[in-house]
This record gives sequence, C-alpha cells and structure tokens, in this order.
Amino acid sequence: MPTLDALATRFPEIPPSVMLKIDLLRRGVRMGLAPVGTRHYHHHDEQGQKPVDPRAHIQGSVMLPDGTTVFVAHNPASPYVIEADPDTGRIRLREGERDEFITELMPGPRFGWTAARTAQQTPMAAVFSQSLGGTCGPLAIFLLRYCEFTKNDEECRFCSWVRMGKSHEVRPNAADLREALGAIWAEQESIGYLAFSGGSLFNRTKEADAFLLYMDAARETGLRLPTTVAAIQALDRPDSARLRGAGFDYACYSMEVWDDAAWQAVLPGKARSVGRAHWMACLSDAAEEFGPGRVLCNFLAGVETAVPGLYRSPQAAADATLEGMRWCYEQGVYPKWAVWIVSGGAVFSSHDPAPLEYYAHLIAGRRQLYAEYGLPVPATDCRHCLTQSCEGDLAVLDPARYAIGAAAMCDWDHHHPVARVVN
Ligand code: SF4
Repeated sequence: MPTLDALATRFPEIPPSVMLKIDLLRRGVRMGLAPVGTRHYHHHDEQGQKPVDPRAHIQGSVMLPDGTTVFVAHNPASPYVIEADPDTGRIRLREGERDEFITELMPGPRFGWTAARTAQQTPMAAVFSQSLGGTCGPLAIFLLRYCEFTKNDEECRFCSWVRMGKSHEVRPNAADLREALGAIWAEQESIGYLAFSGGSLFNRTKEADAFLLYMDAARETGLRLPTTVAAIQALDRPDSARLRGAGFDYACYSMEVWDDAAWQAVLPGKARSVGRAHWMACLSDAAEEFGPGRVLCNFLAGVETAVPGLYRSPQAAADATLEGMRWCYEQGVYPKWAVWIVSGGAVFSSHDPAPLEYYAHLIAGRRQLYAEYGLPVPATDCRHCLTQSCEGDLAVLDPARYAIGAAAMCDWDHHHPVARVVN
C-alpha cells in the first residue's frame, strides 16, 4: 500500500490502522462470501428495494487486530476485498489490485433479529437498522421513508438512500416497532443508543411531529430506553423544546459542510428549506434548550472536496471543516464527523473520494480542538460504535498525544455495555 506508507512517513502521529480505516471507508470494500454484515433495507421497507447486486444490501462492521472497528459496505470498484480463507474460514482483507494480504479481520456483530419477522411479516431489519454496524448494538429507525428534497432534485449530493428504491410504507408500523424493540432487547441485552431519523420535509414542525409520536410508541412498550437521539433537520426553538420535552437525550442537526458555497453545492434542499444562517441559529437555540453538549452537529468530512474550485488544497478544505467544529464548540454544540463514503446512486457517486491527506490534516486539527474545549463526549459515542469516524480510535491508540481535553475523560472502551452477540 504505497500511498498509505507514504502518509505514515509524513504523519507519524497517526496510527497506521487509523489511516487504513479511513481508506476502507472512503473506498468501500468488495464483499466476498465472508460472513460479514447483515441485510440492510436501504429504503426501510421490503417492497421498496431496487433489485440490485444483493451484496449492495449488506452492511456491517469488521474489527482490525488492534480493535479499530470499521463500517463496511459493498463497492464493486473498491481495490479492497474481504474474503474467508477457504481452509481455515478466517476472515482476511486483501488489496485486490496487487492481490496483497493486508490483515486478518474479526467480523462485527450479526444479530439474529435482523433475519426475523414481526407477526405482520415485516422484516425487523426494515423497522430498525443496526446503526453503522456498531458493536454495542446501536439502533436507528427511519420515521419517514421519503424525502421532499427529491421532488426537485434537491437531495443532498452524497445521499444514495433516496435512489435505492421507493418506499411503499411511508412510516413504520407502531405495532412492528414495539414487537421488534422487545425482540432486540431480549437478544442483545444492551442497545448502545437509539437514533430516530428519516427523510426531510419543508414543513419541519410536521417532520418533528413524527419524532414525538414514535417516542411515545417506544415508551408504551414499557421497555427501558437507551440513550436517544433525534437526527432531524434543524428545528426552531419551540420545536427543539418539544423534542427535549418528549424525552430525547440528544438532538443532532447536522450541517454536513461548513462554508456557504459548500452548502449551495452539496445541500441544495437544506439550503432552500432552512438556509445555513438559520440552521446555525437553530443549533445555538437548541443548545440552550438541551444544555451544553446535548446538541450534536455532524460534518460529512471530505464531501466538500468534491465541489470544483472551492478549496485550493486538501488542507484548506480540512481547515474549513475545523472552523465549523470550532464554531460548534463556541455554541455548546458537540461537533462530530464521519468519513464521506462515495455511495452508488448519489449525485456525487462518480466523484473521487477525499484525499487521505485531507483526513490527516483534519485529525491533527480535531486533536487541537479536544485540547481546547472540555465539552463532554456524548453518550452515543464509543470506540466500537464510531465505525465511520476515528474519534475513539485515536484517543485509545494514541492517548499521550491525542486524548487530551474531553477525549481524556471518556472511557472509550467501556462507554456502552456490550451487546450479547451470537455470530
Ligand atoms: S435530507 Fe439529505 S441525507 Fe436526508 S434523506 Fe433527504 S437527501 Fe438524503
């Protein structure tokens, strides 16, 4: 892997496993027949799935030998291959172009409920997703299987979800939700967190209504609720207060990119629905409603490099995203990031991923922010569930140089109780 080797020489403070994780994320993997991942319903109902290569519907995670956990999804163009050794059955990673053995891998959790159906014959995995293959069993539920931004081709340019099919059921069935949640608790015995999400509406109050409705449905199960997060468009203060009043622990209003020009190019729907300035005002207001560190803002790190002519270098793009993270900290909003995965079906699907150098600069700057700001690490974050960013990995692998500030306070390896896994 000459590119990774060259990066390791230039950025010796970043562990090689972290750079490998980033490369696996940004380029995806070719899934062989190895027992990795489970069936993922992209459009969150069974009928709505497009008939594509079945491997495109498999998602999950793998663990590198040092414990670094990586989200994996199939990309037929990736140079990386995950396969099972035909003699030993052990899972290994190869780089296809050179047929080079890279490392052995541990498959992430594969829960039995993902293959089960409710009494109404709905696949439980169409009701809840195993969120990003996280090892502690985090869940996501999509409350609206439709996004209004698609009507005028205004969907976020990285989003493949809207083009993977068309849902017949616009909302999940509440009885299915109750039954599936019971089955998941019974099997996993732990749920890292529960994220409520879904497509967007221009009427954000209406979008928020569903979050309250389904929070009630989850409560009516009488089951213990894990840490909950509402990942939704930025809401005006009264609606943020409604979310908080309904019992959500966290709200996540993701800016995804920082500069206004990037907003126009990457988020045309959000730019028209709310606009960057109003989004930022909503974030500040929500931080007052929820309290410091209880409002999250994700940046889809790297997607801004796909906008032609916007940044003169990978470092300049990383600096812009870091500026956004700093702004968040100043408001009491916890900034998060995920590696941009170039997804099939997205408007940006033919773009190159962001260069590795971009992530090297981003990581260095993120480390600096950890040292400056003491906002607590959210309860949703754990090294084994942050499969799409490297926050926890760096703090664990490189504590002397990285885990300063808030990261040092966080017991990354034991943040969530461990879910029971029967692979
Ligand atoms: S808001 Fe953006 S990311 Fe979310 S479903 Fe719509 S297009 Fe996709």
